[in-house]
Amino acid sequence: MFIGIDIGGTNIKGVLTNKGGEIFSSASIPTGKTADDIENGIVSLIDVMTDSKSLPKRSIKALGIGAAGAVDCKKGVIITSPNIRAWENYPLANRIERRVGIRVFLENDATVAVIGEWWMGQGRKYRNWIMLTLGTGVGGGAVIDNKLYTGQSGSSMEFGHMTIDYKGRKCKCGNIGCLEQYASASAIVNSARIALKKDRTSSIHKKIESDEARKGDTLAVKLVEEMSYFLGIGVANLVNIFNPEAVILGGGLSRDHRIIIPVVRRVVNERALPGLKDNVKYLAIKNEDKAPALGAAKIAMDSLQHF
Ligand SMILES: [Zn+2]
Repeated sequence: MFIGIDIGGTNIKGVLTNKGGEIFSSASIPTGKTADDIENGIVSLIDVMTDSKSLPKRSIKALGIGAAGAVDCKKGVIITSPNIRAWENYPLANRIERRVGIRVFLENDATVAVIGEWWMGQGRKYRNWIMLTLGTGVGGGAVIDNKLYTGQSGSSMEFGHMTIDYKGRKCKCGNIGCLEQYASASAIVNSARIALKKDRTSSIHKKIESDEARKGDTLAVKLVEEMSYFLGIGVANLVNIFNPEAVILGGGLSRDHRIIIPVVRRVVNERALPGLKDNVKYLAIKNEDKAPALGAAKIAMDSLQHF
């Protein structure tokens, strides 16, 4: 048995699975604010899932963790993370290993989502595809000729920091006009705040979330459409570069795919090159809730074989 953990901006999610990708147990807990909160959350998720199947910890062969930020996978160290300031050169894998006595492997959160979707989701149907994870930030990954592209340091495909407006909004990374500033959950929240000053009738006065878009709030739908337009510009760049068979959207915002995908498709058709934009499928991740944690477990399985 293996456990996969996905540390998101809002929740930490876990799955207990086997080599066939069957899910025997899953659990989720709010992420919390400090490094200690997160570590305690991970440990209690492991307890909840093993207890639910009356499994001793030693029956778990390895544990995979996906975390946002720059990650040194070989050392199991988080170099920096946008969410947790205390995570600087933070040996998360080692610390969890010591607490639970299970071998731990660490990966970037977008990579675990790609691996999960590749293993048990839509990605298995294609040899060349890209994924964009739309959450608090924007991440991504590319499978090229059936191989995950990693770059020289293992942290490539930062799609969120591709410039889409050279005179645009300032990004936390130091660049200007990054896609993430326009096509993430935080970008929608920012736009909502600005728009709400003008519109007093919207239901998001009570609750700023893209959930409102699915309920049909006009302003919320407008904001998601606006973010989809910017996303489309980014995806048009990626389609020109990768000529993928499929573009798969993951992350929390992908739940709004019914609004997002038609806009993205239209913008790509307006902007990308003929021949490269043809026959591209636009899809949402199959199981947004579990795919990243499953991917983390898969990474643990595969890494264990190299030790
Ligand atoms: Zn940036």
